[in-house]
This record gives sequence, C-alpha cells and structure tokens, in this order.
Amino acid sequence: MADPDSETPARDDDSDRERHPLAMETLVALCAARGFIYPASEIYGGIAGFWDYGPLGVELKNNLKAFWWRRMVRERDDVVGIDSAIISHPRTWEASGHVEGFSDPMVDCRTCKRRFRADQIEGERCPEAPKKRAVAECDLTEAREFNLMLRTELGASVDEATTAYLRPETCQPIFTGFKRVREAARQKVPFGIAQIGKAFRNEITPRNFTFRSREFEQAEMEFFCHPSESGEWFAHWREQRLQFHRDLGFAEDLLRTRPHAPDELAHYARAADDIEFLFPFGWQEIEGVHDRGDWDLSRHSEYSGKELAVTDERTKERFTPCVIETSVGIDRTTLALLVAAYRQETLENGEERTVLGFHPALAPIKAAVLPLSKKLAEPARAIQRELRRHFNVFYDDAGNIGRRYRRQDEAGTPYCITVDFESGDDGHVTVRERDTMDQKRIPIEGLERYLRDLLEDDR
Ligand code: ATP
Repeated sequence: MADPDSETPARDDDSDRERHPLAMETLVALCAARGFIYPASEIYGGIAGFWDYGPLGVELKNNLKAFWWRRMVRERDDVVGIDSAIISHPRTWEASGHVEGFSDPMVDCRTCKRRFRADQIEGERCPEAPKKRAVAECDLTEAREFNLMLRTELGASVDEATTAYLRPETCQPIFTGFKRVREAARQKVPFGIAQIGKAFRNEITPRNFTFRSREFEQAEMEFFCHPSESGEWFAHWREQRLQFHRDLGFAEDLLRTRPHAPDELAHYARAADDIEFLFPFGWQEIEGVHDRGDWDLSRHSEYSGKELAVTDERTKERFTPCVIETSVGIDRTTLALLVAAYRQETLENGEERTVLGFHPALAPIKAAVLPLSKKLAEPARAIQRELRRHFNVFYDDAGNIGRRYRRQDEAGTPYCITVDFESGDDGHVTVRERDTMDQKRIPIEGLERYLRDLLEDDR
C-alpha cells in the first residue's frame, strides 16, 4: 500500500544525486524520440499518470517480463503461473481491506482547486501557492481519506449497475484462486502462484515519468507455506529477488534493501523489505518482499465462506497457509533499466554518442543489418530474413553508416552487421559490438551461430 514516506527528502539526498548526473528530462526526451515510452493520448495533451510504450519500449518490457517469468515460474517446480481477470467480484476488495483502507489522507486547496497528499503539506500553506500569496489566503480542507481504487460500473443500464473496481494489485485473484490452482496443478504447500498483469491506482500525484502511474504492470508471486517456515521462506525470496535485479545488470551501488520499520508495516504484515533503486530522483522502491502471515487466506475464507485451510499430509495438522509475497513493478523496473543503461560518451575523434548499454538478453533489438549502400539491399535483406527467424533483427539502409551506428547505440542494439561490397565475393560481413565498437569479419554462413553464442543468456 501507499507508503507516505516514499518520496521524502531523507531518502533523496544530494550526495545520491551527485553520483547520478543523468537528468530525467534527458531520458524522457530520448524515450519519446526513440519510441520507448511517450505520453498516452499525446495529441490531446496527454493524460496524467498514463503512458504508452512504443516499438522499442514494448520489446524491452516484454523481455523483462519474459525473464521474470523464466526465473519465477519456468525454472521452478514449486511455482505455477496464472493470468486472472482484471475485474474481480467486489467482495474481493472488501475482504482484502481495500474498500475500507486503501487510501491516502488528502488535503484540498479551495483556492487553487488542487488536491495534495497530506504529507506533502507543510503548515497551512498550499504547496502550489505563489510566493506572494499570504498563508491566510490558502484555504485548505482538513485531511480526508481518498480511496485509490478506480471504479467502474457493470451492467446494461445505470439502474442495474454494480460498482466494480479495476484491481489495484494483481495478487488478490491469486488468493481467491488458491484452492483451484493448488488442486489443478497438483501442488502441495509450500508452493507459489505467480502472475504478471495490469494494476490501476488513482494516484493523486502521478510523477517522475512512469515511476508513479495510474495504470501500471506488476509481476507478483504469492508463496504459500506453513507458518513455522515463513521466516525461512521470507529470507529465501528476498535473496532470490535481489539476485534477479543484479542479473538485470544493476550495479551494487544502484541497489539496496530497506526493511520496513515496525510502524510502517501493514497491520497484518510480519516483515517487509523494499528493494530500492537509485533513480535520478533518489532511492525509491521497485519491489516489495512481504511476509503477510495468513491474513489473506483467512480473510477470503471468512468473506466467501469457503474453506481455504490445508492439511499437512504427514502430521494431519490443519492450517491456513502463510504468504510470502514478492511484488515488483514492471514499469518501475523498465525505468530503472533505462536509467542504468544510459550513458553519454565522447569518442576519440571528439564525436558524442549516447548508448543504452542493456544486457543483450534485454535489448529490444538484438542486431541491425546495415548495408553500406542501398545497392546492397538484396543480400542484406536476405541476411535479415534468415536471422529474424531467431532474433529481433532490424534493417536500416538510410543515411551514412556512422549515423546508423549511432541510432542503434541509442536503441541499445548490441550488434550491428554491415554488408559491404566485398561481402558478395568473400561471403563475410562485419559485426560491430556496441560497447567496445570492435569490428570483426564473420562468415555469413556462421552468422546465426555466432550471434546465438554472443546472445546466449547465461544468467
Ligand atoms: P509506493 O509506496 O511507491 O506507492 P507501494 O508500496 O504502494 O509503492 P506496493 O503496493 O508494494 O507499492 O506495490 C508493489 C510494486 O508495484 C511497487 O514496488 C512498485 O514497483 C509497483 N507500483 C506500485 N504503485 C505503482 C504506481 N503507482 N506506478 C508504478 N508502479 C507502481
């Protein structure tokens, strides 16, 4: 749930900023220009808290999701995946506590008609008030609870309408489907259920690019275990999840874990650690690992009247499983990938280049085929046709070769394949590596094998 301290200056100090010279405006502009991420409904001026992923962005995000799915589901015998509906039975959100408690205290300014989180207000003054406005002219309301769930109506006519909610987190359908999935997948506790999907929150102050959006994606895994083992599983999952972020290529000095203080914990939670990333706007949460006790299954059992306890086959003990949750934001992690990958370099000849140094497995485009001249389009296209059966391969024959390399550096493409006038005679092409800019002649016949070895994901 919303952590009112998440954007306090204490975790956003200047020393961190100095280590992070990348300005968000630079990244936001690059993302829009190159088609990673741009404002939703841009031609209407955008809509706050909503973003669209363009041709490069969707590939990057899909690669991230595929890596999560591989790690969390495919490589484990004790975790299975689902893909649930976005809208759940409204009772779900009563049981989960969201109808009653998923809120931030908000203050309205009657003068400027804007709404703020209560923790962003100092004294009686509206944060948006011009300096010369007297405090007395700021007409602030008392703090009021504002529910963050987005509502919608179901039914053919307004009279029959039933209020439903777009899910504010993806995990609740995992709890409501617990019995069905356990039986269908023939799993025994301890085991986990994972899913990736959209979540919606009516954030009052969407900001920091995609970091705090109103529509976003989460990748969540709920691991069900015996209460006596939850401490062990919590430690296991915290380590697994930290390793995942290291494997994305995040350097140690960009990552840290932050245990929640007892007064920060949700009332049902027994322990919670945030995994934080150093963004240009400070240290911020990208993932939460939570020990939720047996609260979720107990509540859904109570509200649905369905038995969700299990029996330990060995001891015949009947118990309600405890839950360790790992919950990572796909959009926040994609943003972290962009931040970590971005670098600006000055080459020996004085030229500048911008590089997105993604891990090759995450790069949106794996290789670009670049004929030196349009006259070489035919053999170059043939190479692309062959390679694109295996990898995402881009073709570009427009403009001088240096500029085409720069464009691929900016897109984070790890390999450029140049087809030249000798290629037809000697059957070789030049492969240029993004980071070192080293170039090698490689036989066209062995190209797929060569790239496969380079791109092999050995994480
Ligand atoms: P915050 O305190 O930053 O609002 P939270 O503690 O409410 O986050 P959780 O409810 O634990 O977040 O959600 C798990 C993950 O979902 C977060 O770590 C984050 O990556 C992602 N997430 C949550 N809210 C948003 C949002 N508004 N926009 C983008 N991602 C989000």
